[in-house]
Amino acid sequence: MKVIKNIPLAGPVLNGNEKKYVMDCIDTGWISSNGKYVTEFENKFADFCNVEHALSCANGTVALHLPLLAYGIKEGDEIIVPTLTYIATANAVKYCGATPVLVDCESNTWNMDPNRIEEKITDKTKGIIVVHLYGHPVDMDSIMEIAKKYSLFVIEDAAEAHGAEYKGNKVGSIGDVGTFSFFGNKIISTGEGGMITTNNSELAAKMKLLRGQGMDPQRRYWFNVVGYNYRMTNVQAAIGLGQLENIDWHLDKRKTVANEYIKEFFPFTDLFTMQPEMSWATHSYWMVSILLTDKVKISRDEMMSLLATDGIETRPLFYPMHQLPPYYEDSTYPNADRISIRGFNIPTNAELSSSDLRYISDRLVYHCKNNV
Ligand SMILES: *Cc1c(COP(=O)(O)O)cnc(C)c1O
Repeated sequence: MKVIKNIPLAGPVLNGNEKKYVMDCIDTGWISSNGKYVTEFENKFADFCNVEHALSCANGTVALHLPLLAYGIKEGDEIIVPTLTYIATANAVKYCGATPVLVDCESNTWNMDPNRIEEKITDKTKGIIVVHLYGHPVDMDSIMEIAKKYSLFVIEDAAEAHGAEYKGNKVGSIGDVGTFSFFGNKIISTGEGGMITTNNSELAAKMKLLRGQGMDPQRRYWFNVVGYNYRMTNVQAAIGLGQLENIDWHLDKRKTVANEYIKEFFPFTDLFTMQPEMSWATHSYWMVSILLTDKVKISRDEMMSLLATDGIETRPLFYPMHQLPPYYEDSTYPNADRISIRGFNIPTNAELSSSDLRYISDRLVYHCKNNV
C-alpha cells in the first residue's frame, strides 16, 4: 500500500505561551492596539536584535513603508532594491511615489550584488533597501561602504531573516533601519504583523507618529501631518511574545533541518545545489532553497509537479521584479533570471520530522536521476 504523504512547505509552530497570553488579552479585554504585550514584545525584540528601538506594526510591508515616509521619500526619488525579492520590497517604494531601481543578485548568496549598485546610483538616489533573502544575510560591509560614499540610508528588509547574523551581528542592527514580517509562514509569526528596528531616536519618533495617524504626542487629537493606522494589536503581540520567548528553539530546529538536508544532498551537487551559507554568515533558514543544474533535463515546474504527486509541497523562487508587470523592464538580470527559473523552496519548518525529511530527499534525488 502506498503511504499518502502531505508535507506542507511551512507553517507556524505555536508551542510556547502564545495561547496563555492570547487568553489573557481576551479575559482582560485588551484586544486592540494598546496593551502590555505590545510594549513587552517591542522591548524584547529590541533586546533580541541588540538595537535601541523596536516598533511593532501591522505587517512587514508597512514596516518598509514607514521608514521611507520618515525619510521623506517622494515622487522623483530613487531607491535601490534587489530584483530578486518578494514584491513588498518594491511596492513600499512605489507607495511613496518613488521609483525602485533594480539590481541583479550575486550568484553565490543570491542577494543583491554590491558590485552592481554603483552603476545604478544617480543624483536622485536616496537610499538602498537590501533583502536578506530566504534567511541568508547580505554582505553588509560592502553595502555600508557604498552608502557612506554616496550619503544614502540603508534599510535591511529582514522579513525572512529573524536571527540571522552577519559577522556575529544580528540582521536589522547593521543598517540604519531593519524591518521584519510576522506573516504565518515566517520564522516567527503573529498571524499578520511587522517590526521596525533602529538606533536612530529621531527616526523612531517620526515612524511612531506616522504609525498612529500622526497624532501629536503632546496634544491628543491634534494632527500636524497625515499619518496612517499601521498599528499592531495586543492580541498579535501576545502571540509574538510567546513566539519570541522560544526563538532560539525555532532557529535551532530550522538549522537542524537545514543541516540534515545539506548532508543528504551533498553527494548530488551535479544534479542540484543549495543556497550556500557563506563563512561570515549565520543563515536563519527561512526556507531551504535548491537550484536544479542543467544536467536535469526537465523544467523546475515539472519537478515541482512530480514532488506534488508525492505529497510534497514546494514553491517556486520569487519571480524577479523586472519580469513582473508593475516593474517590467525589457532587460536581463542574468543571475536573477538564471536562479529564479531553476530554483524552488522545499519544506522547511521547525516540526519537520527526520523521516519526512529523508522522504523528501529521496524523492527529489529519484526524480532528478530519472531525468538526466
Ligand atoms: C514577507 C515579506 C515582506 C512583507 O511582509 P508582510 O508581513 O507579508 O507584509 C517583505 N519583504 C520580504 C522580503 C518578505 O519576504
